[in-house]
Amino acid sequence: ADKFDIEQVRKDFPILDQQVNGAPLVYFDNAATTQKPQMVIDALNHYYTRDNANIHRGLHTLAERATTGYELTRKKLKDFLNAESTDQIIFTSGTTAGINLVAQTYGRANFSKGDVILVSNLEHHSNIVPWQMIAEEKGAEVQVIPVDEAGVLDMKAYVELLDSNRVKFVAVNHVSNAIGTINPISYIIEQAHRVGAKVLIDGAQSVAHFEIDVQALDIDFLAFSAHKLFGPTGVGVLYGKRTLLEAMPPYQGGGEMIKEVSFAGTTYNELPYKFEAGTPNIADVYAFGFALDYLKSLPKNAVWEQEKALLDYATEQLMQIDGLRIVGQAPEKIAVVSFVIDGVHPQDIGVLLDKFGVAIRTGHHCAQPLMARYELVGTCRASFAFYNTKSEIDLFVKALKRTITMLS
Ligand code: PMP
Repeated sequence: ADKFDIEQVRKDFPILDQQVNGAPLVYFDNAATTQKPQMVIDALNHYYTRDNANIHRGLHTLAERATTGYELTRKKLKDFLNAESTDQIIFTSGTTAGINLVAQTYGRANFSKGDVILVSNLEHHSNIVPWQMIAEEKGAEVQVIPVDEAGVLDMKAYVELLDSNRVKFVAVNHVSNAIGTINPISYIIEQAHRVGAKVLIDGAQSVAHFEIDVQALDIDFLAFSAHKLFGPTGVGVLYGKRTLLEAMPPYQGGGEMIKEVSFAGTTYNELPYKFEAGTPNIADVYAFGFALDYLKSLPKNAVWEQEKALLDYATEQLMQIDGLRIVGQAPEKIAVVSFVIDGVHPQDIGVLLDKFGVAIRTGHHCAQPLMARYELVGTCRASFAFYNTKSEIDLFVKALKRTITMLS
């Protein structure tokens, strides 16, 4: 298709067409998880209706179909990320699992006493805690790249941290889930490599919005979740450079990740299976491939243009509300608006908006250090996807105004 047809697109996501608490659903919680196109739902149904079997070792027809379907998604991901090869695409259960894998394998093998791991003040807890855990174990230290009032990372401070420290590793998100900032990862990676540090990019919030070329960006590790990319829950992807992945010890032990097991000793499988112990989430991996197909079927740039229009419109509408302050106004951001309102607790807003059929997220967004930076307990966050519309923003703003009147 070369024209973005919003009516058709909304029909492709059946969940959107429903009433919630007597009002049309307005789903603005896309940063928490995205909705699934019919193709993905059909693929799940098809898999369990026709193809279900365990993969890789079976010689029968169903096992072969299941294996082919599972491996086809790996191939689609290789193309999606422009990875060098499919064996650098490791299936996990999500972003969190991918980050923990790298911390527990690369980190365990490479960090030692006095080493510094840099994270940013914009991180989700899942890109902080795994580094704290391995740092504690190895006597390494986690240090923080500061963020300014607008929500932009301080690159001058970053370079100083790199130059004055034994920085072994940098772990940053591409996009902040809490306030939407797009971080300059190309520069971050280039600078880290200059001092010999490796970089993990948490892509949980970026992959749904724009393309990532792992080779062009020279990314060492990239982790993301299928469920934030219009695919099922329970599936994630870890991309890594081959030399790094090959040198890393395995993570979990079990079936599939071995070459040969004996009581005298065990040898490990090659990539990517070395990191895929046990029966994986076959059905959801298979269905995830259809989410990638769906995205590919949309006209180029349509996603970004639609979301940009929604962000501009929502920002403009919200700024007209008395006492409302937008938290995080980075010049480069995705379609996320995080805001607070004088004298009103975010949670009360979230609860009341739901009565009008509007789904947003309130709270700390798993980014407590960022909330602490702004001296907030939390924010209200409306996050948009390409299937959202300006008329939904009108419904949201109207409901928000009534909510504020009710609460004050
Ligand atoms: N990082 C970021 C930036 C996120 O937004 C999220 C999900 N909110 C995660 C990591 C964790 O993803 P998951 O819960 O799917 O593992």
